[in-house]
Amino acid sequence: MGQNLRPSNKNLEGVVPYDPKYLPARLMLSANENPGSLPPAVAGSAIVALSKVPMNRYPDPLANDVRDLIAQQYGLARENVMVGNGGDELLFNIAFAWGGPGRIMLDCPPTFSVYASNARLCGTTVLNINRELKSLEQGTALPSSSAQQAAESSSGYGAFPLNEEAVLERVAQGDIDYLTICSPNNPTGDLASVGFIERLLDASDTLVVVDEAYEEFAPAASSVVPLIEKHKNLAVLRTLSKAYSMAGVRLGYLLANPEVIIELQKVRQPYSVDSLSQTVAKEVFKFQELFEARTTMLISERDRVYEALSALDGVQAYPSAANFILFKPEGADAAEVWQKLYDAGVLVRDFSASIYTPNCLRVSIGIPEQNDSFLATLASILEED
Ligand SMILES: *Cc1c(COP(=O)(O)O)cnc(C)c1O
Repeated sequence: MGQNLRPSNKNLEGVVPYDPKYLPARLMLSANENPGSLPPAVAGSAIVALSKVPMNRYPDPLANDVRDLIAQQYGLARENVMVGNGGDELLFNIAFAWGGPGRIMLDCPPTFSVYASNARLCGTTVLNINRELKSLEQGTALPSSSAQQAAESSSGYGAFPLNEEAVLERVAQGDIDYLTICSPNNPTGDLASVGFIERLLDASDTLVVVDEAYEEFAPAASSVVPLIEKHKNLAVLRTLSKAYSMAGVRLGYLLANPEVIIELQKVRQPYSVDSLSQTVAKEVFKFQELFEARTTMLISERDRVYEALSALDGVQAYPSAANFILFKPEGADAAEVWQKLYDAGVLVRDFSASIYTPNCLRVSIGIPEQNDSFLATLASILEED
């Protein structure tokens, strides 16, 4: 047996495998999952459909039935839709198809770290234009109605706004191959304005990916899907993992013009979306209205948790248009607070090691009792200190 191993691709040097510290806990508030599984009617119907799946056969490689259901919902055609093994697979496909050595991706941190790590794996040059932290007055709650106004106007919403002018100017130089704007942005909760995305699309031929994984929690009219009709360089990412309770099933989709979809289909793994996932996804799209009540509950809980966090002494909470809230325990060490929360059975996500979100934690919104329990635990930890 050989005692030596040839090194892997040099792009992998120094890469640390993705590990979000997803540990078992009484309260799982770290991964922005839906606190509830599929509504009973959907689950029942899915189980019947699953029992009929011929598991000895390969799935439909293009998942055309699912694509048709999605297309119908947006008034688009099958050719405008591509499904993937979670949105994450589609993000990698984009990074592969539009990146590579000698190509440039623009990143706007703090944002979803997967964009930059995919780019590095593909040997793409990553150029950063950081979001700017707006100072917020302690305890000043930004209600959802102001998110609504922001979505409709030309300014964004949130405490970590994009440096819009710098991004537009850089993209207009014409050498950026692609960029991803996360809106609502993970982990900060900011919402980009539709007006800004439109200016960005017009600034050059750069592929603009808008990651709308949390769009169902954002105000109406904040989605950029309607811009697809007039913009060849736009791709919008959606997922069933958050508002549709399917993080465990793995199904995400991309909406774009056929020119983009065809390129990505050259890259995608033919059978990445298995027949079980396709079957459950079809049921979800048939019964979509059954998810609305829970989404509405999560939105109102988010606003309530935001106000409660803002009212806590020594906590800076950042306004969010998603189903999570980034917050900073100002007088305490966030990593220690994370540990004490975990010891008390509450798992949140620790972002304190990131230079872009120093001393910050992110909590996902659960059902009211879970949120109450989180708030009470946090308050007692901060009082001890
Ligand atoms: C959760 C998430 C996704 C997609 O997740 P999948 O489970 O792979 O569909 C994409 N982008 C962001 C920012 C997310 O938080």
